[in-house]
Amino acid sequence: MATAKRILPASTNPRDFVIATMGSHSALQILKGARDEGMRNLVICKEGSERPYKSFGVADEIITLKEWSDWNPELEAKLAERNAIIIPHGSYVAYLGHERVQKMPGMYYGTKEILHWESDRTMEREWLLQAQIKLPKVFEKPEDIDKPVIVKFHGAGGGFGYFVVKTPEQFYEVKDRKYPDQNDFVIQEYIVGVPLYAHYFYSPITGELEIMSFDKRYESNADSIGRIKAQDQLTANIHTSYTIVGNIPLVVRESMLPQFFEMGERVVEVSKKLCGGKGLFGPFCLETIVTRKLEVFVFEISARIVAGTNPFIEGSPYTALKYDVPMSTGRRIARDIKQAIELGRLEEILG
Ligand code: ATP
Repeated sequence: MATAKRILPASTNPRDFVIATMGSHSALQILKGARDEGMRNLVICKEGSERPYKSFGVADEIITLKEWSDWNPELEAKLAERNAIIIPHGSYVAYLGHERVQKMPGMYYGTKEILHWESDRTMEREWLLQAQIKLPKVFEKPEDIDKPVIVKFHGAGGGFGYFVVKTPEQFYEVKDRKYPDQNDFVIQEYIVGVPLYAHYFYSPITGELEIMSFDKRYESNADSIGRIKAQDQLTANIHTSYTIVGNIPLVVRESMLPQFFEMGERVVEVSKKLCGGKGLFGPFCLETIVTRKLEVFVFEISARIVAGTNPFIEGSPYTALKYDVPMSTGRRIARDIKQAIELGRLEEILG
């Protein structure tokens, strides 16, 4: 799975490199972060989506493509000419696809091996279990359902079509009526609690795991159903969906922080074993539900920057404690890259 051996630029001057990303998701903070660390940046936009990058004045260069499918060897060559280091984010992986990203030749911040572990539900579960992370129980077949479960269809954008039932009969009633042809789903124990997204950063250069911030999501329509009374919800026959609209910053109970540090550390340690090398590094996120007994269940891991870090362009309460400058996750990435270049350790932060 390792990428072909490549020759890296020998320069130890960060100004000889460009931090590049796709114009979407968390690009604004990635670009600003590069600037703040004194590095040049570049954004690749789909025609029609350049406006924020122009208007907020954060980009040194904007390259526009008609379609994401125009992300071709010619573009790769342009990026290589500039010594561009690509910062992947959720949209980058979603639009280009895991397999394509694995094969792309350019300099890429992060571990490509981990994409594999993250994109396959069974492998992701194996990784988290080895890291002694609490996971919602998974039911092998509908007949086994004996408590409330959430049924998730694979690739369901924004959690659309997810439904909650608590018996096999209810499962078949909903599934056969609404989704008779969809058979790629997972049945997960429904955890009653509050969603909480923990944003981490692990630097191979400093060897330190940092907690950057936390957020919760603002999801349509899950976050609006409670605004009408139960009887109206039934009358209107509303189906819950989780389309993400924005992110809301959070701080957690201070007494929970040690647990969050330990969880992040175990996930990184196990990833090194699984990938047989660098393992997971850079920003990542544990997507959790915290119960009333303060048990933390992880229902997903994102092995890169998440959009939940966007409220913290000026830093979070946690980064304010650690850094004497406003430290966003985007800026933290740029700092990692800058230090790696200056120390001649670039290879260590590329996938
Ligand atoms: P992605 O990051 O892949 O877009 P997501 O992060 O939105 O997905 P999903 O797994 O799609 O996460 O979950 C959507 C919503 O369902 C989240 O708001 C989450 O709080 C809720 N949810 C997911 N799994 C569970 C669970 N096991 N128990 C309770 N709520 C859950």
